Amino acid sequence: MEERLLFFYFLCSKSGLLLHAMYHTDFFSSPIEYLKGVGPQRAELLKKEAGIFTFGDLLSYFPFRYVDRTKFYKIREVTADLPYVQVRGKLVSIVVVGEKRSKRLVGKLQDESGALELVWFAGIKWLKDSLQLNKEYIIFGRVTEYKGRYNMPHPEMELAEEADKQVASSLQAVYNTSEKLKSRGLDSRGMLRLQKTLQQQLPHIPEVLSNEIIDGLRLMPRHEAYVNVHLPESNEKLQKATFRLKFEEFFFLQLKLLINKVIRTEKFNGKKFEKVGTYFNQFYKEKLPFPLTEAQKRVIREIRNDCGSGKQMNRLLQGDVGSGKTVVALLSMLIAIDNGYQACLMAPTEILATQHGETISEMLKGMDVNVALLTGSTKKSQRKIIHDELQNGNINILIGTHALIEDNVQFKNLGISVIDEQHRFGVQQRARLWSKSQEGRGEAAVNVLVMTATPIPRTLAMTLYGDLDVSVIDELPPGRKPIKTEHRTDSHRLAVWGFLKNQIKEGRQIYIVYPLIEESAKLDLKNLEAGYAAICHDFPMPEYKVSIVHGKMKAKDKEFEMQRFVRGETNIMVATTVIEVGVNVPNASVMVIESAERFGLSQLHQLRGRVGRGASQSYCILITKDGLGKDSYQRIKTMCSTNDGFKIAEVDLQLRGAGDIEGTQQSGNLDLKIANLARDGSILQAARDVAMKTLDEDPHLQKTENLMINKKVSTIMRGEFQWGRVG
Ligand code: ADP
Ligand code: MG
Repeated sequence: MEERLLFFYFLCSKSGLLLHAMYHTDFFSSPIEYLKGVGPQRAELLKKEAGIFTFGDLLSYFPFRYVDRTKFYKIREVTADLPYVQVRGKLVSIVVVGEKRSKRLVGKLQDESGALELVWFAGIKWLKDSLQLNKEYIIFGRVTEYKGRYNMPHPEMELAEEADKQVASSLQAVYNTSEKLKSRGLDSRGMLRLQKTLQQQLPHIPEVLSNEIIDGLRLMPRHEAYVNVHLPESNEKLQKATFRLKFEEFFFLQLKLLINKVIRTEKFNGKKFEKVGTYFNQFYKEKLPFPLTEAQKRVIREIRNDCGSGKQMNRLLQGDVGSGKTVVALLSMLIAIDNGYQACLMAPTEILATQHGETISEMLKGMDVNVALLTGSTKKSQRKIIHDELQNGNINILIGTHALIEDNVQFKNLGISVIDEQHRFGVQQRARLWSKSQEGRGEAAVNVLVMTATPIPRTLAMTLYGDLDVSVIDELPPGRKPIKTEHRTDSHRLAVWGFLKNQIKEGRQIYIVYPLIEESAKLDLKNLEAGYAAICHDFPMPEYKVSIVHGKMKAKDKEFEMQRFVRGETNIMVATTVIEVGVNVPNASVMVIESAERFGLSQLHQLRGRVGRGASQSYCILITKDGLGKDSYQRIKTMCSTNDGFKIAEVDLQLRGAGDIEGTQQSGNLDLKIANLARDGSILQAARDVAMKTLDEDPHLQKTENLMINKKVSTIMRGEFQWGRVG
């Protein structure tokens, strides 16, 4: 039936009949080539370049900004400092100059105040044929300065007489397009033309939210919002339209996440930790080396509540480097043991796992708890013993690397899995661990606590981990001396070296880190090796001992060098970012970061977290070249002004946008069409609140007033949303 309908469409559009509006859902899923003014070639481009396959996709292809159409600049007023400007003038000449790769089309636009040069490097033939000499145009673009002269590269051109015909409001939508689209006439204005064509045939866009939500937040009706976001009638309506659409986008995303959570809690019972017993209490009273911070106490309460509920715990624990997550993990594991369960703690590297093993065994000294360490380098014979002891329940706590998730590791009665520095694990490893924790075979699922030292802004956490419960340790243990961070340029290196020598004299150890970024890995390695040679020269043996660690080394050699530094046998560790994760060398007090402008903010913060773990004052020195770009400067300045990981994460989000934040790439949840995590935090919060309230009152969305929401969310969850997102 559907195929026949499509064929029918095909005939209709071929013969110029437009009957699309007859079937609403089919309207939105109509292939884009059937829109007047598109055709097969442009359709191919729209699909490839903009992901627009259907009418619905086009409708959801939102503008990224708006210009005030009533505002025109005189050519004399235009400078390179201005953002996009609109100019009205006559196209008085148009010529192709240069050859082959330097070939370009140069035009001249004139108004009563002067003339402006226009340049195109692509789509020359098409433009040359379609632009009309000596006609008046309204052009839109950004002016650049080249050899003291202004010109406007790739302006968007609209015949003034065409523009004057339209009685739209003063606000005009601006769309992102690509060079290829532009060369086919689909620049921003071309896109707007398509939108107008579409809107002329637009059937009523059905509502998807309940009246209660719409009235409660005084949302603009959906149909009106889709019209106004492309063709705003007024500024006020535009604001309401974007709010409505952003809210809707966040709302369904949150609803999806929360529904997953509901499903999970209904489906999986969790191992229930009914009581807090002697292990926990004895440790708390006799062994705990320091009083817990308020934040640590709060988080432990949250974990106890989760694990005592009989529902599986799925909790993310965020806490800055050094905030004391390890002891929280340990206390949680002790509760498991109190209830007759085993516990495991997984770390991303061997060094980290070994350190956890040592710290935890040390803290548990004198208690009747059996701790074992399992990593890639555990001997076969030892491994066999561990496997047996796990199965007969003699081992209470197993600590290790991802060797823990291998199939032959079987617990007698695992109650909780703690995963440290989770952002370091690949998606697949994580998935295996989840499945291990839910292997159940009808039993209750293992509780999961995931810990990360990469603070992410609230909006991002809600979006990435909206289906988990999130705890935050937002307080450092008392008495820490904040790390002093300073910015130095290459020319200060001598002074920096002098400072390092003093620190070494006082018995401190030092990290010097070089960037290693994939695309230029070879060059980076050369830099690292040159740097290492220079450092060995400036810090000669036998007075100084220098270690080197980088990603291209064999794991064994890396481990060996690391251990030498950990044991204090070397003064300086020259390294790439391999040292980023969790290593604890309390005696290390200086972190020098070379070419710091090439690191991202979260990476800089992570690196800095390697120092400041002991009693002495610690320092972070960021060395950069002279003359930094705006964003690099902002990053360095942020690092020097705060040690607060959450503040840093917030700046990172503002500077880079959500998609570029470390560890977020795989998440489809960030694929937002109109809302923006960096800017729309309050809308997101509102959407999450409303989504929670909706599910609280009606967990399965069965009530009549939620029927539309139910329908929409089912479509989303079936993954069918490419088909007419709007319908
Ligand atoms: P992270 O959150 O980075 O994993 P750790 O758990 O390694 O932090 O803790 C960092 C250091 O702080 C450790 O040496 C630990 O013993 C210490 N520490 C943790 N909690 C407290 C506390 N409440 N008071 C004092 N020191 C603490
Ligand atoms: Mg840690």
